[in-house]
Amino acid sequence: MDHIECIVIGAGVIGLAVARALAARGREVIVLEATAAIGVETSSRNSEVIHAGLYYPRGSLKAALCVQGRELLYDYCAMRGIPHQRCGKLLVATATSQIPQLERIIARGKENGVLDLIRLKPAEAQTLEPELACVDAVFSPQTGIVDSHQLMLALQADAERDGAACVFHAPVEAVTVNQNSFNVHLGGAAPAAIRASCVINSAGLHANALARRIHGLDPRHVPPLYLARGNYFGMSGRAPFSRLIYPMPNEAGLGVHLTLDQSGQARFGPDVEWIEAIHYDVNPERAASFYSAIRAYWPALPDGALQPAYSGIRPKLSGPGEAAADFVIQGPAAHGVRGLVNLYGIESPGLTASLAIAQRVCELAGR
Ligand SMILES: Cc1cc2nc3c(=O)[nH]c(=O)nc-3n(C[C@H](O)[C@H](O)[C@H](O)COP(=O)(O)OP(=O)(O)OC[C@H]3O[C@@H](n4cnc5c(N)ncnc54)[C@H](O)[C@@H]3O)c2cc1C
Repeated sequence: MDHIECIVIGAGVIGLAVARALAARGREVIVLEATAAIGVETSSRNSEVIHAGLYYPRGSLKAALCVQGRELLYDYCAMRGIPHQRCGKLLVATATSQIPQLERIIARGKENGVLDLIRLKPAEAQTLEPELACVDAVFSPQTGIVDSHQLMLALQADAERDGAACVFHAPVEAVTVNQNSFNVHLGGAAPAAIRASCVINSAGLHANALARRIHGLDPRHVPPLYLARGNYFGMSGRAPFSRLIYPMPNEAGLGVHLTLDQSGQARFGPDVEWIEAIHYDVNPERAASFYSAIRAYWPALPDGALQPAYSGIRPKLSGPGEAAADFVIQGPAAHGVRGLVNLYGIESPGLTASLAIAQRVCELAGR
């Protein structure tokens, strides 16, 4: 049986960032990806926003890794020529009843080290974005956007330059824990087994199920998974906005926001739809709720402008009505298996935090 020092399962932004970080530290790495390409699941089905770090409780992994990861990501994008823009975002209250929530988010941002937020009166916000309707607003200058596919290509290229290999059509079916190593069992067209000293489970939506197939890992360490799809709508014409517009967050998401791609084209979403199984079809009938959510901050949104675009699925560790869960990054100290790191619940801000998560995983993976 072939032996590889480190096996990373999944070639999303997290697996690729981890592979790059491990390879840069001189470790032998292969990335096993079930599908035919990098980043075909959650990493290419998101808002592509570089978050400042406003929303997450102080001391949480989400707060720490978002703030740290944001700066690492901006530096990396600049160094590698990855398309990105530090365009800023306006977080808006559209009713006076929302102002206390806006103030709590500002306070939480400050606790997380986001110290450059600028409170704006409605008229000041409208000077920036004339079609915006709000009763209060805060401007976050550190929020931006990134081309997530170009980011993943750069991570893959860096990892491969440092000796890592990405293997596609390589679904990991199970892992067996041995004394000082793992047997990683591959399915697909060419079933095989590979021995490894270190296994990183960064399988995104499938990480929890895969962890239950790691024989030798106590299943009590594997949290339950809930799926919350976020649907997006695009629009035919140009939206008259040059910054991101976020309403107040709701129980499971950040609200139906307006984000921009690198060409300035607007998209709206994601909403929150709890689902039982993975599928990505966007129901056009959800448009009605999008019109009303968007018109709260952009009353002039024309009738008929919205079209179903795409969806992504959040791998949530908390269910409907429960408090939002943190990222869970479990190394040997948590589960007792040397060389194994499992990543669960890497929803937003996982893209922003990816480079910081990779550093954390390298520390947990040991040598
Ligand atoms: C709607 C939505 C909006 C979001 N918006 C933002 C945002 O604006 N900013 C931000 O910072 N974050 C955002 N996020 C979060 C971000 O997209 C994720 O945190 C990130 O993409 C997770 O990457 P990943 O590598 O863990 O997962 P994935 O991208 O899903 O990658 C996992 C990979 O593992 C592979 N795989 C699975 N099982 C196996 C197996 N058994 N064997 C081999 N391979 C396997 C899959 O094929 C896949 O390629 C958003 C998420 C969602 C859902």
